[in-house]
Amino acid sequence: MADIAIIGGGAAGAALFGALLNQDSNATVHWITGASTQGRGVAYATPEDHHLLNVRAAGMGLYVDQDEDFVQHATRQRAGVRTTDFLPRRLFGDFIEAQVRARIATAEARGRAFALHAAEALRVDPQIDGYDVLLADKRILHVDAVILAVGALSPRPLRTVSNDALASGAYELNPWNLPHRNRAPRRMIVIGTGLTAVDTLISASTQWPDAELVAVSRHGLLPFVHPTLPAQPYPQQNQLNAQLLACHDPVGMVRAIRQAMRESPQLDWRSVIDGMRPINATLWQRLTLAQRRQFLRHARWIWEASRHRIAPPSAEIIQQLRDEGRLQVHAARVLGVDGQGPLDVTVRARANQVMSTLQADLVVQATGLDTAVAFTEHALLSQLIEDGLAVADPLQLGVAAHPDGRLINARGDSQPGLYAIGSLLRGNLWECTAMPEIRAAAHALAANLAALHPAGAVPISAATA
Ligand SMILES: Cc1cc2nc3c(=O)[nH]c(=O)nc-3n(C[C@H](O)[C@H](O)[C@H](O)COP(=O)(O)OP(=O)(O)OC[C@H]3O[C@@H](n4cnc5c(N)ncnc54)[C@H](O)[C@@H]3O)c2cc1C
Repeated sequence: MADIAIIGGGAAGAALFGALLNQDSNATVHWITGASTQGRGVAYATPEDHHLLNVRAAGMGLYVDQDEDFVQHATRQRAGVRTTDFLPRRLFGDFIEAQVRARIATAEARGRAFALHAAEALRVDPQIDGYDVLLADKRILHVDAVILAVGALSPRPLRTVSNDALASGAYELNPWNLPHRNRAPRRMIVIGTGLTAVDTLISASTQWPDAELVAVSRHGLLPFVHPTLPAQPYPQQNQLNAQLLACHDPVGMVRAIRQAMRESPQLDWRSVIDGMRPINATLWQRLTLAQRRQFLRHARWIWEASRHRIAPPSAEIIQQLRDEGRLQVHAARVLGVDGQGPLDVTVRARANQVMSTLQADLVVQATGLDTAVAFTEHALLSQLIEDGLAVADPLQLGVAAHPDGRLINARGDSQPGLYAIGSLLRGNLWECTAMPEIRAAAHALAANLAALHPAGAVPISAATA
């Protein structure tokens, strides 16, 4: 296999790095991790024990062919771990680091070549026989293939937020910055009600026990909760999945799912949603662009809440906050955020369309993954787009790519030797950001790279934009 650069130090980068190290080759694997701790990325860097995984311990892992599973590892850290538990994300971060260390030790023992670079990658420039990757410390790595594992982009402020509000210091774009804020707000408003909003509300409730908490989103729907123990699988899931695959429009799909649920009243609806997981990417790929747009506009909110559920302990904390009157959840559209602190948040209620203004000392934006590469300030992605090596997915769900991660360039051709893994592929795969999907993708991509880029030069200059 040829020299490869993985750009991105999160879990996706770690999964791919470990998978590549396991292969027999005399080529070098470069892992460019930026400043973050190797493998933890955004999700698993949290030190807070109440930030829980939303997948049961048995479902979490880093490699398809792992040396030790997560439950075994967690059992050594704390007593009484069960496979069905939703453990702290911090523990999974420890597990990733341990797994990476183990693969590195084996690679060293076998003489497998690799290099770790704790620097940001700023540019990727095509050369006659591969790519030059420019790092922030001015070094240039010459490789045959590059894999973008950069995760989601830094959030951009909502268009409705004024410059004054942004400059006030009372508008927080990065929910994970909360622990660095010293002053307790009297009222904090979170824009968004998804998984990140839940973590933010739980953190704020312990950090500032007297703060009044408000969460606002268009539908005011928090994620549904997982059952305490795994629900029984739906016995007719295979037939249902075959029916869904045969049906080419989203309305028909929803009808089939509803019918399955009506015909089996004992069934836990969550089993049906979970049972669709193996076919979600294929279903998405079969939709036309117009149908995908329709799904995003009308069904995304309910899909996200049903598919990406929270752990029961998190749901209990949220319920308690609501029961105690410390947390209010509004279904309303945010029309504007203005002021110099405190901030005025103007909303229009979904139920009666009445406008009102709420005041808050702190407003936190927690509106989900940003993968709109056409508008990003991410240096590397902007350069790739500008140079035509990558193009945005038409729905701004990442980059245009093939299902196996090969990027499509501005000419509409495959860009040889340039790949992505994880959130940047949502346009093609839709569900590709959770660990079960990431580790399968890393395994498949490592095998593809070995087959497509055997050691030696790969002439790519003719096909670059
Ligand atoms: C809060 C949260 C909780 C989650 N919980 C779960 C869960 O419980 N179970 C589950 O299965 N999934 C979960 N996920 C989804 C998924 O597992 C994670 O998102 C996963 O960690 C994604 O990893 P990643 O490497 O793609 O991205 P990231 O974690 O975002 O890592 C990308 C890294 O690349 C770095 N980077 C970016 N650009 C460059 C550059 N130019 N040069 C060098 N480095 C760069 C970034 O700084 C970052 O460290 C969660 C996600 C989030 C955000």
